[in-house]
Amino acid sequence: MAILVTGGLGYIGSHTVVELLNNNYEVVIVDDLSNSEKFILKNIEEITGKKPVFYPFDLKRKELLAQVFDAHPIDGCINFAASKAVGESQLKPVDYYENNLFSLINILQEFKQRGISNFIFSSSCTVYGQADQMPIDENTPLKMPESVYGKTKQMGEEILTDFAKAYHRKVSLLRYFNPIGAHPSAKIGELPIGIPNNLVPYVMQTAAGVREKLSIWGDDYPTEDGTAVRDYIYVVDLAKAHVAALKKLMEDESNVATIDIFNLGTGKGSSVLEVVKAFETANDVKVPYQICDRREGDITIAFANVDKAKEELQWKSDTSLEEALKTVWEWQKYLKNRNT
Ligand code: UDP
Repeated sequence: MAILVTGGLGYIGSHTVVELLNNNYEVVIVDDLSNSEKFILKNIEEITGKKPVFYPFDLKRKELLAQVFDAHPIDGCINFAASKAVGESQLKPVDYYENNLFSLINILQEFKQRGISNFIFSSSCTVYGQADQMPIDENTPLKMPESVYGKTKQMGEEILTDFAKAYHRKVSLLRYFNPIGAHPSAKIGELPIGIPNNLVPYVMQTAAGVREKLSIWGDDYPTEDGTAVRDYIYVVDLAKAHVAALKKLMEDESNVATIDIFNLGTGKGSSVLEVVKAFETANDVKVPYQICDRREGDITIAFANVDKAKEELQWKSDTSLEEALKTVWEWQKYLKNRNT
């Protein structure tokens, strides 16, 4: 049996492919390389000593997708393929809805027709918006996200919930908090394309001198040091949660709909300034920064209650912020060597 991993050469996808291969799953990757690069495939092979099947095409190409299902005994899917730039999603809403939702629906059509269950969806804590209480557990009421990107995640969750109910299938909706870090081998990690929007890639490039200064978006939030607080989760731990969620679905032999929802974070909030300091300490480098106005659409604070994943998946993240940030720096060095 094989697992279809869409977006399997992307940031979280590639780390999850490594964990799946290490756990002896057969992996079939579909990735259109729109936000990833082919060398990641070679590096996955170097890390694991195994060769996943790879198809480079856009999941909107239904006929090609059907051929993949014809060629492989697909028994489940982990769906990472999606456009994910929050700012861009506001400027190109139709493209975001088309890309993120059509690809999902095309896979579900194949699942429906072929009687396949076991679907794992990359969701995001953005579905909670600014929650009224911390930590955020899975019963926290959802708020309509501000960005089109966030809306595609919420809509994806709804589509999958209806799919599971109507056809008695098993789905797992994984709500990631803020993934950071790279594989300890430094062969796979987050590939920043253009100017990074996310904090940790920007910190990485600033420490490396690619960017002059980090802009800290706001120091007047009602938090301890005034900067916004997030739950930064190490990407390898996050990848392992996917394997645990998949195992749980596959072990469930009942014929009823299963809709698992898990928050995936560390359970601990860190402020922007804490991340900057931790990066400096972990890697013995300086990160020049300036304080700027708040960024539009940013929330003050978000961190997860991770009890449910602990109990039901026997999973938790035990990598410290500093350890995770060390891998970021090793990854930056690898990227620099590649380019010189
Ligand atoms: N942030 C920042 N400077 C940057 C990028 C991000 O101060 O160049 C802050 C941002 O305002 C937020 C936190 O870092 O408080 C995490 O931002 P990111 O974009 O990584 O994740 P998200 O906003 O989706 O939680």
